Amino acid sequence: MTEQIKYTCSCCGKEHDEWPALTFKSPDPYHTLSQTDKDNIAEISDDFCIVKHPDQTDRFIRCTLTQKINDHCKGLDYGLWVSLSERSYNDYSENFKNENHEATYFGWLCNSIPEYVFNESIPTSVFTRTGKQRPEIVPHKDFDHPFVKDYYNGISKQEAESRIKAMLARVNKNNDLSQEKKPWWRIW
Ligand SMILES: [Zn+2]
Repeated sequence: MTEQIKYTCSCCGKEHDEWPALTFKSPDPYHTLSQTDKDNIAEISDDFCIVKHPDQTDRFIRCTLTQKINDHCKGLDYGLWVSLSERSYNDYSENFKNENHEATYFGWLCNSIPEYVFNESIPTSVFTRTGKQRPEIVPHKDFDHPFVKDYYNGISKQEAESRIKAMLARVNKNNDLSQEKKPWWRIW
């Protein structure tokens, strides 16, 4: 990594490197569409995505998730998409400009994080936050998957830095984070 920005940590008083968030620009079910389908049946913005298949409509919103780091003061931030039910999606979009809106939705995780293998979607709770912050994703603890275990047990600082490095390498090669082509996600 080049040009690391440093900051003085309010927790330990030492200087740390600023970490970028690991962000996905779109949910995988959108990312893997053909360009024609992207143009014709899908809509995407910074926070919302809709894909209108002939038989069903899929709805996604962009959220954040913070991975706990065991030997570091700060977590690793992810920008991830989840699919929501029609009712939750409408509730979220209707209240998008209301900074005091507080709600919890059920969402399926819709990005394949490269360090893990996904064969099915991970169930999550999505907590809206007051102010202008994106909702926070919390994976369901009882779901058996390495990503869920890591979320609750924490990962090492070394592992976090290796994920950042891998992401920056992919960005430099102009690849999106999403590499998985085989559909694994679960839709409503
Ligand atoms: Zn610190």
